[in-house]
Amino acid sequence: MKAIVAHEFGAPEVMKLEEFPTPKAGPGQAVVRIHAAGVNPFDTYMRAGTYPIKPPLPYIPGGEGAGVVDSVGEGVTKFKAGDRVYVGHPVTGTYAEYSLALESQLHRLPERTTFNQGAGLYVACGTAYHALYHHARAHASETLLVHGASGGVGIAAVQMGRAMGMTVIGTAGTEKGLELVRREGAHHAFNHRTAGYTDAILKATNGRGVDVVLEMLANVNLAADLKLLAQFGRVIVIGSRGDVTITPRDLMARTASVHGFVLWGISEADELDVHAGISAGLENGTIRPVVGKELPLGEAIRAHKEILEPGAQGKIILLP
Ligand code: NAP
Repeated sequence: MKAIVAHEFGAPEVMKLEEFPTPKAGPGQAVVRIHAAGVNPFDTYMRAGTYPIKPPLPYIPGGEGAGVVDSVGEGVTKFKAGDRVYVGHPVTGTYAEYSLALESQLHRLPERTTFNQGAGLYVACGTAYHALYHHARAHASETLLVHGASGGVGIAAVQMGRAMGMTVIGTAGTEKGLELVRREGAHHAFNHRTAGYTDAILKATNGRGVDVVLEMLANVNLAADLKLLAQFGRVIVIGSRGDVTITPRDLMARTASVHGFVLWGISEADELDVHAGISAGLENGTIRPVVGKELPLGEAIRAHKEILEPGAQGKIILLP
């Protein structure tokens, strides 16, 4: 099969389009013909060798995708060849024509959801759902700030927060991003590259502050987030690329808290809940995956550069 293969960790250029042996399904496993693969920032950290998880080399990048079950191994009962699925955290990477997954890593893709939309479901929607429901324990009467709302996770969080009945504030760094954030359901949108935008956020809450912050770049924003919180506010750290200094009294004064998680560490019960939520959201139309850029598989290098650049507009996907 054709696959993107990294023989060493390093710059995006370590990834090469190559012929690679097609995986075979062992007991409890399935091989999925990948129609579209989701590209995520963590793919770039893993490729660079800076992520806590280092796969044995050579490896195929890609932690999620969508396609059709090609074959199943002994003991697989819930799926059969021909089923439309999305995969999350599979055994072998999704930047390839075929990916090997455990039965538990397969999830049904409804007919109305395209493979391109399904490619980025797991990480974006799974993360947003886990943050909002399991960590923030958010309520309809609360105000949500999605700090970095124009990317994969942010758009999903805006859609879910709005569907829950929350007052949603989103930020983006470009006009197109701000338009997208408003279109997907934010009541207010602010540019995180404009001086004084945090004052504007506070003003939009009439000075009360926000109850929940979903933070995509904590090393830049955490100190300011704490000052934006209402009493009993929660910051959920989703993304961070370095260190930050905070004023702990900002937390104490508000009886506030900061949570962090990685999706890979999710419990089995929460994971079941996440996929039930994604399935329901796709069915009732509250989850509407936004694909900002579709690139051929051979352009993985470009995808890894562009995912880290400003100007996000939903997911970037690769088409094998
Ligand atoms: P993405 O699609 O690349 O989007 C990045 C988002 O961050 C965009 O909305 C971008 O806005 C925004 N951003 C850029 N500069 C910002 C700033 N100064 N303040 C606030 N936001 C800013 O990435 P993603 O898939 O949504 O993931 C977002 C982050 O969460 C990444 O760091 C990723 O590694 C992390 N993540 C963590 C988990 C986990 O398990 N904890 C899971 C998924 C993702 P503009 O481009 O419009 O400026």
